[in-house]
Amino acid sequence: MKTLIIGGGIAGSALALALHKAGLASEVAEARPDVEDSGGAFLTLAPNGVNALRTLGLGDVPAAAGGFELSGIDFRNSRGRRIGELPGEADQERYGARGVVLRRARLQAALAERARAAGVPYTFDARLERLVEHTDGVRAVFAGGRVVDADIVIGADGVWSTVRRLTWPDAPTPAYTGIVDCGGWTAMPLPDTARQQMIFGRRAFFGYSAHGGLVYWFTNVPHRREPRRGELDRLDQGRWMADIRALHDGDPDPVPAILAAAESSLGAWPIYDLRSLATWHTSRICLIGDAAHATSPSSGQGASLAVEDAAVLARCLRDRASAVAAFDDFVARRRDRAEAIVRMGRRIGDRKVTSAVGSLFRDLMLPTFLRMGAKAGQEQYRYRVDRDGPSGGTS
Ligand SMILES: Cc1cc2nc3c(=O)[nH]c(=O)nc-3n(C[C@H](O)[C@H](O)[C@H](O)COP(=O)(O)OP(=O)(O)OC[C@H]3O[C@@H](n4cnc5c(N)ncnc54)[C@H](O)[C@@H]3O)c2cc1C
Repeated sequence: MKTLIIGGGIAGSALALALHKAGLASEVAEARPDVEDSGGAFLTLAPNGVNALRTLGLGDVPAAAGGFELSGIDFRNSRGRRIGELPGEADQERYGARGVVLRRARLQAALAERARAAGVPYTFDARLERLVEHTDGVRAVFAGGRVVDADIVIGADGVWSTVRRLTWPDAPTPAYTGIVDCGGWTAMPLPDTARQQMIFGRRAFFGYSAHGGLVYWFTNVPHRREPRRGELDRLDQGRWMADIRALHDGDPDPVPAILAAAESSLGAWPIYDLRSLATWHTSRICLIGDAAHATSPSSGQGASLAVEDAAVLARCLRDRASAVAAFDDFVARRRDRAEAIVRMGRRIGDRKVTSAVGSLFRDLMLPTFLRMGAKAGQEQYRYRVDRDGPSGGTS
């Protein structure tokens, strides 16, 4: 069976590797011109994502991609007082893994290099433009006219999936969350942080962790109006950083110092999510990763879900007699979990925005909200792809 994967991001490359491990061949078509190991922001791969990589024999990838482990989160209010925590010191014992902070482009590049080394054919500069499904297979047409025929096509092409748009023109489009995310990494002599530091600032939410002389920081800018596509792609960095510094003016140390040291951000990303699609597959086409269920970064789970999807879909394709039976099985195993996480991400993001508006009661309410969020997060960490559910252990 010839499997064509559209998109060589986290989901696409992880799927190519999972299929290879299952003894199934595939090829990947990626719109970017080449493997890029720079650009984009950083992300946190949750313990369940690290475990999903291990299931695929890729447990060494986060470290090879320059990742560093973190355990837990401290939450602070706009005066710097600690108002909540997600203790992570026992993550290794509880979940079998710790979360890892790493640069997204490096993770993508490491997975793509690993797949190519395993013999998976990659075509870069291959932007899908048309898709025709017929009784015997699927024809994919790329910019420039290249044509690829395959038995099945997997849409791993991200939140703005072309596969989704071409296959289900009436499917819901991603919903804007009211947040523009921005951040980067900045050289600064802060001591390494054992936990991520999250601050409900006076006007915006800020997060950072320090490791090896670099501070990895982000801010969630509340931005009610949905930016036009591409509007934030070429910002004047001087003015943008001045606005970000003003947004966090008066927030507790070391937020202003980090922003003073940061000359630029790596980008400004309007945040979207995709709550629920009527279906993820036809007889020969199936969506995975953000293409099926994009979640806001506030859930901290998008990349982990992408790797989990890859592991589960490869197993279904290996074990089921037909592609459509495999897709049915895959969706039955994945949909509830993924959609619950999308809803969780939206709830957390909304709370970040409303708490930034400034309320008399927010410091009273936040600890309760954080306790609920911590419990929901810990439930996600326990999930194991090889068991289709939580591992044992206590939370
Ligand atoms: C600012 C920000 C911060 C985030 N932080 C976190 C975090 O801390 N933790 C976490 O787990 N997740 C985080 N995420 C989410 C995470 O990055 C995504 O969930 C994850 O990248 C999804 O992987 P994917 O492979 O499904 O999609 P993508 O990573 O988007 O990959 C899709 C690929 O498809 C390619 N493609 C697109 N269209 C076409 C086409 N027509 N033809 C061919 N190829 C195409 C793209 O070039 C891309 O390489 C964050 C996201 C953002 C925006």
